Amino acid sequence: MERTLPAATGFLAAVHQDGGRAPAPVFASLGSCALEREERHGHTLHTGLLHTGAPEAARAYGPRCAVVFAGELYNQAELRSLLPPGAGPDGDAQLVRALFDIYDLHAFRLLNGRFAALVQGEGRVLLATDHAGSVPLYLTAAPGRVLAATEAKALRTAPTGRPLPAARPVRRLPGVHQVPAGTVLEVALDTGGCTAHRTWAPPLSRRILPEDEAVAAVRRALEHAVQVRMGPEAPLVVLSGGIDSSSVAALAAGRAAGPVDTVSMGTDEADEFPQARVVAAHLQTAHRELTIPTDDLLRRLPHTVWAAESLDPDIIEYLLPLTALYLRLGGTGRRILTGYGADIPLGGMHREDRLPALDTALAHDMETFDGLNEMSPVLSGIGGHWSTHPYWDREVLDVLVPLEAGLKRRYGQDKWVLRAAMGDVLPQETVLRPKLGVHEGSGTTSSFSRLLTAAGVPQGRVHHAKRLVVQELFDQVVVAGRHPDEVATEEVVQLAAGQLESRTQ
Ligand code: ATP
Ligand code: MG
Ligand code: MG
Ligand code: MG
Repeated sequence: MERTLPAATGFLAAVHQDGGRAPAPVFASLGSCALEREERHGHTLHTGLLHTGAPEAARAYGPRCAVVFAGELYNQAELRSLLPPGAGPDGDAQLVRALFDIYDLHAFRLLNGRFAALVQGEGRVLLATDHAGSVPLYLTAAPGRVLAATEAKALRTAPTGRPLPAARPVRRLPGVHQVPAGTVLEVALDTGGCTAHRTWAPPLSRRILPEDEAVAAVRRALEHAVQVRMGPEAPLVVLSGGIDSSSVAALAAGRAAGPVDTVSMGTDEADEFPQARVVAAHLQTAHRELTIPTDDLLRRLPHTVWAAESLDPDIIEYLLPLTALYLRLGGTGRRILTGYGADIPLGGMHREDRLPALDTALAHDMETFDGLNEMSPVLSGIGGHWSTHPYWDREVLDVLVPLEAGLKRRYGQDKWVLRAAMGDVLPQETVLRPKLGVHEGSGTTSSFSRLLTAAGVPQGRVHHAKRLVVQELFDQVVVAGRHPDEVATEEVVQLAAGQLESRTQ
């Protein structure tokens, strides 16, 4: 059965020695919640699955273990080849369960996907993220109980857990931790102690390839990543007219039976509409433009923090225009492909010619992405949609990251290898178009800055003030559990400006 969206897009799960109770599931992501209770190995497993119609495929119970799975796998065919012929489990949760029976926790080293999973085995609970941690996963653990959820706010009322050195603590939610990217956390149920097993790490070595081989490898990997992310219906590509999203749109258009949909956002201050139109016309997509007034855009700051649960002001600034776009899309249940994240392995933000500095920046970015949550599906989930990012496919990263820096910056162009790989399916002006960040093209950075300077923040303190705004928003919509519709950006900005002033006096 082919489905447009994954069987589940999020979950809350609790394993208790003594029956116990699970907190009521609270998600920012839209969807129905299917509750279930199951006794196994002398423990109770409570699950609340966030779904859009067929949650069964997100749970799998076997004699050795139970699996709860949110998200999707992209290498099912390969994974199935590891099982006895005819075994053919239906859904991704069933597939993971069957692989777990053979490989135990090493099964997670085999998966290429966008997911968060919980496995209950005898005496232990395993919590797993995909290689990029692209579906965030949080937990609290104490002797005799483990609670896990795909949104931190779902655990805010859980009883305080013990400190877990193997995971990242969440600000102002004592005992709540985030599972690192590319990791299986193994929690012993009797003690609540945990061990981390890495299942992926960004490559540190660099490969030397002839131009044509590098270009072909990038094209092949990206084409495959787009193909496995397409559902039965034409996808929607969020398109800026930059090389990253235009490449995704071109490859999706080349694969889809009918025309693909594309959408561009802009504000009353800035947009990339003309550049996106060139691509949409070339690919003959069904294209839409959404203009969001700047005031409305800034009003979505609380929603962005609510969805991303991130404390990084730069990341929130990139995600704000996209969040506003997702909330404006209308309809429900679209499968959205983005060009997000290409600039990290390709060093696209790096606007100069020195290769050592490029590789330093790239290595740093690949080392520090974890916990920023910029790939989180909750961003589109609050609009009822599912997003997926081909450039952060595991195989694509394994091709892109290790290419020697001279293939990324070449002939005075950024992201050269990608541009060279897409020359035959995109207009030349798109292929040559310099990078422009979504926060720049929509005027978000400048309008957010203006909000702060208007509140009296000195020019040189604006970035710090943005950090304070994001922290305060996080405290309100995640820690205190307020709905973002009830949080006024203006008031939070005033508060941050006041904090800054009292600290500098
Ligand atoms: P480049 O990085 O070269 O500018 P890009 O515009 O595709 O290429 P980003 O600017 O890094 O990439 O933006 C990240 C992603 O966010 C894009 O690939 C696209 O999917 C989405 N996006 C960015 N700007 C817009 C926009 N104005 N409208 C719709 N989607 C956008
Ligand atoms: Mg980009
Ligand atoms: Mg761009
Ligand atoms: Mg753009």
